[in-house]
Amino acid sequence: MSLTDRFRDPQAARWVVEKIRARSNRPVRLMEFCGGHTHAILRFGIPSLLPETVDLRSGPGCPVCVTSAEDLDHAIALTEVPQVMLTTFGDMIRVPGSRTSLAQAKANGADVRVVYSPLDALQAARENRHRPVIFLGVGFETTAPMVASAVLTADAEELDNFFVFSTHKLTPPATVAILDAGEVALDGIIGPGHVTTVIGSQAWRFLADEYAIPCAIAGFEPLDLLRAILALVRMAEEDDPAISNTYARSVKAGGNPAAQRAIDQVFEVTTANWRGLGMVPRSGLQIRDAYQRFDARCAFSVAPTPAVRPSGCRCGEVLRGVLTPPQCPLFGKACTPRNPIGPCMVSAEGACAAYHQYGAYPS
Ligand code: SF4
Repeated sequence: MSLTDRFRDPQAARWVVEKIRARSNRPVRLMEFCGGHTHAILRFGIPSLLPETVDLRSGPGCPVCVTSAEDLDHAIALTEVPQVMLTTFGDMIRVPGSRTSLAQAKANGADVRVVYSPLDALQAARENRHRPVIFLGVGFETTAPMVASAVLTADAEELDNFFVFSTHKLTPPATVAILDAGEVALDGIIGPGHVTTVIGSQAWRFLADEYAIPCAIAGFEPLDLLRAILALVRMAEEDDPAISNTYARSVKAGGNPAAQRAIDQVFEVTTANWRGLGMVPRSGLQIRDAYQRFDARCAFSVAPTPAVRPSGCRCGEVLRGVLTPPQCPLFGKACTPRNPIGPCMVSAEGACAAYHQYGAYPS
């Protein structure tokens, strides 16, 4: 049995499901923060295994989806700077900004390229020394260390044509914003596995200590998720909020210190603009003054026109867990993966894309 098979064992999964059913005596609403979890939950049909008392809501854990229209419009405006090559991850290309997308800008002649890593963008800068190469940095604590590493390498090589447009975001402050808004009552949080590998499970302590909400850090296999749900149901039933790490094969209490050091060396914490949440204090990463020459926000002066929201799109409510995707009137009708209206239908981690891909689930 392979390592993956061990976490997909049907007999073990049935055992955990029975435990959840036996424990679940009252309605509990749990939020999975991470878009990767949303896709895994729907892909493996986990909602169909759970008792009706367990209500799962998706959160703001898709980095492409939470990139604000203002930031995206700004990035699109950067492609109009003479000679600029803008590089980013594939999902970002199709996300609609206020009026257009990077894909449309590319179709109109802008040099927009898909890369798989910021190191690819760095290589493009080395090979095009006469042109500015901008990397549109999107992601949470998981991708920020790679971008920090690219900046440090560019600094060491004295590259003067490599820039980063940082829209990097931090996950715990977004969770705080959702809880403080009070729009959706939550009984537990399924903590993001990859993010927590970097920041450490202790970074979620505040949920239990300050909000009396349990948190279970989960991996991405069915048994990981079911065990996290069981832990949350148990803690909610016993009114015993704590942080449970059900992904111990990857997540340590203190996280990854080397990755944390890289982030801290290059970035400082700032207020960030989240699609769906607005301006969230201390939830973003901007490049420190010491590396400001690599900051595309400082290096290029562009003036994007004010952002407008796609008409009828309910991504903001989906990202806050207020609505499930099928509750959006456009879901599966005007808005499909082939013709997406909002980012939640574009991204590989978007909740609307997940619900659409894996079929109809209760709204
Ligand atoms: S279904 Fe489409 S329009 Fe509706 S919230 Fe999702 S992405 Fe936005």
